[in-house]
Amino acid sequence: MGQSTDWVPSLWMDTFAELLDDDDDSELDYGDQWSLNFNYSLTDKLSMNERKKGWKIYCYSGFANFQCASCSKVWHSAKVTLLFHYRLRSERGSVIMRPFGQACRSCNNNQFELPGFSQEEVERALLRLFAKIRKNCYGEEQDSDDCGPVDKKFTKPHEKSLCQACSQGICCQEDDDDDDD
Ligand SMILES: [Zn+2]
Ligand SMILES: [Zn+2]
Repeated sequence: MGQSTDWVPSLWMDTFAELLDDDDDSELDYGDQWSLNFNYSLTDKLSMNERKKGWKIYCYSGFANFQCASCSKVWHSAKVTLLFHYRLRSERGSVIMRPFGQACRSCNNNQFELPGFSQEEVERALLRLFAKIRKNCYGEEQDSDDCGPVDKKFTKPHEKSLCQACSQGICCQEDDDDDDD
């Protein structure tokens, strides 16, 4: 289960809708209409104008599977970058999302495959996003659950040369915040 290597936008759309449409327990229970769209050339920069219009950025790093289109090799990464732009404006909430790919280590052909996510991981990413939205669009207080990698001990070193987000300087870097006092 959860080993899909295909990028499935509808899984994101459906999960997004499910988490919000629950009448009793919507993740964004403020009566606004939220929508999710994809943009495969989104960057982590906002123009002055976009900022003025209320756009904000959230970057998630999570687990996904990949398959090489050339050699069919399958791999798993604990550090797959998802970039979100979001804003709330006159009762309409918009989320734009971009998944970042990884290249096959064997082929090393600069061909970035898009990630395949499990249902669980989709939910986890969206719940994080909704928590950010509640905080930044609705002013909710946040319990301090910071968004570090979940299980550091299981993560292999991140191969930056094969990571599309790294190649564009977007990859959520390890927050170097293990303060040794
Ligand atoms: Zn390959
Ligand atoms: Zn990276």
